[in-house]
Amino acid sequence: MSTAQSQPLYDVIIVGGSYAGLSCAMQLARARRRVLVIDAGQRRNRYASHSHGFLTQDGRAPCDIAAEGKRQVLAYSTVTWREGRALQASPTADGYAVQLDDGSTVQAMRLVLASGVVDELPPIEGLRERWGASVFHCPYCHGYELDQGRIGVIATGPLSMHHALMLPDWGTVTFFLNGAFEPDAAQLAELARRGSTVESGPILRIAGLADVVLADGSTHAMAGLFVAPSTRQSSPLAGQLGCAIDEGLTGPVVRTDEMKSTSVAGVFCCGDAGRAAGNVAFAVADGAMAGVAAHRSLMFGLPPAA
Ligand code: FAD
Ligand code: MG
Repeated sequence: MSTAQSQPLYDVIIVGGSYAGLSCAMQLARARRRVLVIDAGQRRNRYASHSHGFLTQDGRAPCDIAAEGKRQVLAYSTVTWREGRALQASPTADGYAVQLDDGSTVQAMRLVLASGVVDELPPIEGLRERWGASVFHCPYCHGYELDQGRIGVIATGPLSMHHALMLPDWGTVTFFLNGAFEPDAAQLAELARRGSTVESGPILRIAGLADVVLADGSTHAMAGLFVAPSTRQSSPLAGQLGCAIDEGLTGPVVRTDEMKSTSVAGVFCCGDAGRAAGNVAFAVADGAMAGVAAHRSLMFGLPPAA
């Protein structure tokens, strides 16, 4: 048992100060807990000018939603904000120590990973520049605004079948295989049943708003494009701490239980880092749960190791 004096300065360190991290901080702040939020300022949706599907904030700029969340959380006096990147985390006698990119080290009883994921787009000329503007991955987030126009799905692998079968609910779909995926006869029949047209030639580049230029010289003008990027964890902390990590649909996902606890006692994870196919609403919900769970563990102790 440590004395009060030797206890870390913070009850909880939250790595990542976007939707999940802020939502987590809000719960802890309202319990008057000492919270440190460390944020590198690279939200996943920073490429998009509008965010959709999150109740009360539909169509609002993602940066404005995050900024208002930050303002509301920082209104609580027990919350401290640090701009910067957490590089390393390790267990201490009382909890966890986190090393930042400015060389400083901070300590807390509990650690919450709200650090999100990074999208890895296929190397197609002109794709990255249009990411979040006319190239998207989530039909629910950006399908509606395409006004039932022509939609291109660019294959990255078998998962793209799912996109090509869903998106006919949002427009007229052309499925560009680009050598990344070859549907079998049954899959071709499914695509035909849903009304998706297949273009099998390699893509040369994306031009204009969302024009797909094929190597055969043909250009297919689209209202928008969908692509399923692979994802990787934004931060190495979960791996360093030995948290169990599962292979999700698009990349590694930190394993959590229903209280957003990882496999390592005292370490919680919320938002995209801890779920496949996240969005703002899920990140906010996960964050609230992680905040409540971290607080619960501070009040009543951590469950014994399994
Ligand atoms: P993020 O918002 O990605 O935030 C993670 C934060 O942690 C970042 O600020 C990052 O810099 C920080 N961080 C990472 N590592 C470290 C570290 N080591 N130290 C310190 N800080 C760190 N969802 C919707 O609901 N509606 C939409 O319309 C929508 N549009 C989207 C458009 C695009 C183009 C993309 C890519 C995604 C979109 N999403 C949308 C999904 C949404 O962006 C994510 O689900 C959401 O951002 C997840 O929130 P998060 O807090 O888990 O992670
Ligand atoms: Mg966050």
